[in-house]
Amino acid sequence: MTAVDLETAETGRDFVRDIVRDDLAAGRHAQVITRFPPEPNGYLHIGHAKSICLNFGVAQDFGGRCNLRFDDTNPTKEEQEYIDAIQHDVRWLGFDWGEHLYHASDYFEQLYEWAEHLIRNGKAYVDDTPVEEMRAMRGTLTEPGRESAFRQRAAAENLDLFRRMRAGEFPNGARVLRAKIDLASGNMNLRDPVLYRILHASHPRTGTAWCIYPTYDFAHGQSDAIEKVTHSICTLEFEDHRPLYDWLIENLPVPSRPRQYEFARLNMTYTVLSKRVLTELVRHGHVTGWDDPRMPTLAGLRRRGVPPAAIREFVRRVGVARANSVVDVAMFDHAVRELLNKTAPRYMAVLRPLKVVIENYPEGKSEELDAINNPEDPDAGKRRIAFGRELYVERDDFMENPPKKFYRLSPGKEVRLRYAYLVTCREAVKDASGEVVELRCTYDPATRGGNAPDGRKVQATLHWVSAAHAVPAEIRLYNQLFQRPDPRADGDIMADLNPNSLEVLSGCLVEPALAAANTGEPVQFERQGYFCRDDDSRPGAPVFNRTVGLRDTWAKVQAAGAPSGGEAGKKSGGAR
Ligand code: ATP
Ligand code: MG
Repeated sequence: MTAVDLETAETGRDFVRDIVRDDLAAGRHAQVITRFPPEPNGYLHIGHAKSICLNFGVAQDFGGRCNLRFDDTNPTKEEQEYIDAIQHDVRWLGFDWGEHLYHASDYFEQLYEWAEHLIRNGKAYVDDTPVEEMRAMRGTLTEPGRESAFRQRAAAENLDLFRRMRAGEFPNGARVLRAKIDLASGNMNLRDPVLYRILHASHPRTGTAWCIYPTYDFAHGQSDAIEKVTHSICTLEFEDHRPLYDWLIENLPVPSRPRQYEFARLNMTYTVLSKRVLTELVRHGHVTGWDDPRMPTLAGLRRRGVPPAAIREFVRRVGVARANSVVDVAMFDHAVRELLNKTAPRYMAVLRPLKVVIENYPEGKSEELDAINNPEDPDAGKRRIAFGRELYVERDDFMENPPKKFYRLSPGKEVRLRYAYLVTCREAVKDASGEVVELRCTYDPATRGGNAPDGRKVQATLHWVSAAHAVPAEIRLYNQLFQRPDPRADGDIMADLNPNSLEVLSGCLVEPALAAANTGEPVQFERQGYFCRDDDSRPGAPVFNRTVGLRDTWAKVQAAGAPSGGEAGKKSGGAR
């Protein structure tokens, strides 16, 4: 009996889901159990989102479950802050592990017993060879490894030494426990891999109870087996570890027989998804923290205003395949923009203000005009915006001596102010240095709402704010953190940092309604892009982050017929 009807289940198609579907149909498992196994040594990033969506998604699709398991076997790099952040981010992304929160450290005692089991069966030994020498003795792809002098130690001696390792009798690095497999194997992972190392370090959960810790290879598969995981889905770099994974499962009295499947990790242009590098960016102050909106972390994307549904949709479009590829970051922006276009209410905000005085508009008068909240969503309704004699428009929307196709403001030119009137520029006022500081304009009172009764056309519609009502704001514009599509191609990744990744605009002016915006709720600033309020805001002094601009380079790439950056186009299961 399977938990869902395989004929009618609404599941995506990819090779992992095909395997799961077959296994369930053949009765190999009653229920699919997956796990997402982060190491708590950093924050989750968009690459992890792919793994989360896959592991939790497969469980959801087939009526199974997905465990959240912290792979906390290296106490020197792991911290409680990361453990908390990871749980928060997985939930934010929209997934729930219910009761099934586990830690590899929960299994330390069981793993230790299994290590003794291998020793007793002559399948593991304590090696005293210094690390460097041991590495050299493992050989190369063309040369077999050489036996250590300690490989033939008797089980009883191994057992005694291993117990004394646990008891803390030896310093870091003095000895390791190795599996006894095959030093001539073509697969380096089978050349007597290390199972335990000595590490006198305090662990976030087990404190100082242990001074030996299992390696990833020894902990991972056995943890899967304990949790009765059926499909242990990981990224391709573990493909060569699979024979070791299987060897351990075969040689230990584990309670279930999980199987490992590998898929391609997410890579994205202009983006670094290595936790080591991300940690360095934070430590060295290249960014303000793990949640800096320029970071590819879920915390950073959230702060930038990216909705979790956009991340899930992006991951769905990327698909799941076994071939490594690099996804164009424009494809990510496109998914974000597409969702926000449907959901984000529109407002007017002037990023670089230029004052406008409507000379024929009565002094002291103001009026309220109707503005549409979201043309894509009729249910979003309308709001009232104030208009008056003094306004601000975008500095870029004026040119004194415009080239031919500049339709916006210039002396003598008529434009539409969105939701308001047609106005004509009469004069540009300059300061002593010659900089334009104010525009003198006139309006046509017969064009209220922005329509001319005589049907005359204007070619530009500008956004604006009323000087008497607008609220000053700081607006932070984010650009790619790295300035080349393939950071690190030249070796020094930090040299590829984009010096212009953050542009802070102060003295911006926004509609008063925006002063009350909620943190993280996306809004569109008309003609500018999507933004959201940052927690650095103070009462009366909001701060906004640009989530993404309006210009869609990805749509252009696609229209030009370029190959899709995703895997979906290359393998079955394409979604677009
Ligand atoms: P590192 O950056 O040191 O390689 P990691 O990103 O593999 O670390 P883990 O915490 O071990 O960090 O990852 C948890 C899970 O997320 C693993 O199953 C891993 O395969 C998966 N994962 C990590 N990065 C990506 C990625 N870019 N795309 C897809 N899955 C990923
Ligand atoms: Mg890893």
